[in-house]
Amino acid sequence: HGNLDTHYTFDNFVEGRSNQLGRAAAWQAAQKPGDRTHNPLLLYGSTGLGKTHLMFAAGNEMRRQNPAVRVLYLRSEQFFSAMMRALQDKAMDGFKRHFQQVDALLIDDIQFFAGKERTQEEFFHTFNALFDGRQQIIMTCDRFPREVEGLEPRLKSRLAWGLSVAIDPPDFETRAQIVLSKARERGAQIPEDVAFLIAKKMRSNVRDLEGALNTLTARANFTGRSITPEFAQETLRDLLRAQMHSVGIANIQKTVADYYGLQIKDLLSKRRTRSLARPRQVAMALAKELTEHSLPEIGDAFAGRDHTTVLHACRQIKTLQETDGKLREDWDKLIRKLSE
Ligand code: ADP
Ligand code: MG
Repeated sequence: HGNLDTHYTFDNFVEGRSNQLGRAAAWQAAQKPGDRTHNPLLLYGSTGLGKTHLMFAAGNEMRRQNPAVRVLYLRSEQFFSAMMRALQDKAMDGFKRHFQQVDALLIDDIQFFAGKERTQEEFFHTFNALFDGRQQIIMTCDRFPREVEGLEPRLKSRLAWGLSVAIDPPDFETRAQIVLSKARERGAQIPEDVAFLIAKKMRSNVRDLEGALNTLTARANFTGRSITPEFAQETLRDLLRAQMHSVGIANIQKTVADYYGLQIKDLLSKRRTRSLARPRQVAMALAKELTEHSLPEIGDAFAGRDHTTVLHACRQIKTLQETDGKLREDWDKLIRKLSE
């Protein structure tokens, strides 16, 4: 079962604040498979943040150190269908043995087990056997398992026995480094300015960064133009417009109000207390960033405010993003919510 994708390694994984714990944990698991300090290892976080990459990297690293090591990687769906097949063929003993012979079992996206009781039960037994045998188990999940509905409590509790590490969305600096690293891998010449631009515009996940890079290089090849910041700006604008076309100002107002625990009418009101004024400015700046509406149009949508008020909000939020970590975090989270 050589189903590890050998392309994904620690070498081509860009480390940043958001993923350094996850990377360190995966690295440790690869150095000492089965050690109780990181067995089982669970990496969790939303999609496109590098969980599978790290899982492959750990498996590949184990093999690099010891080519005889038996590493088995399976997506949860594959575990499920292998089990169904074994049940049908009345070959459950073989199924069990197959899994218990490995040195490391890598199971990707275990949220897929939700609601599948028989699969969970089999996985539970496999898990216990491997754990007792001090064989390494690495799993990923798209959120903290306790928050996955339809996972059995006893399984949830087992998952937390070893080490659970969150993978967070990468910050600006890391995003830019990832773009540069992916460009290098593809042999594409991307000026740093352009990498920064992509990192600034594409915030939700790493897959989108790669998508932007792919679109950009394809379009450059196709049109024979070189990748200047202007060319990138143009391409990204089209890409974002396509991606965000469903985001309207009303949607932004609702999302921002919910995020800060406010009513939309408060957000639109004339009251200027700080607890209202800041979220209001955030909402206006998001409307400018994510929609094609003009400043006067945005002002209108905010209970008829003047376009200079909107402009001021945009500038204020831009400045605060550089100095206020909390605000930057709010901003990134809101963008993610709005681009889902
Ligand atoms: P997940 O499993 O969390 O959904 P993946 O591991 O499939 O995400 O990552 C999506 C893409 O992003 C992959 O191509 C992966 O190589 C890339 N990626 C994510 N994080 C990083 C990183 N820190 N450095 C380099 N590439 C990354
Ligand atoms: Mg994945």
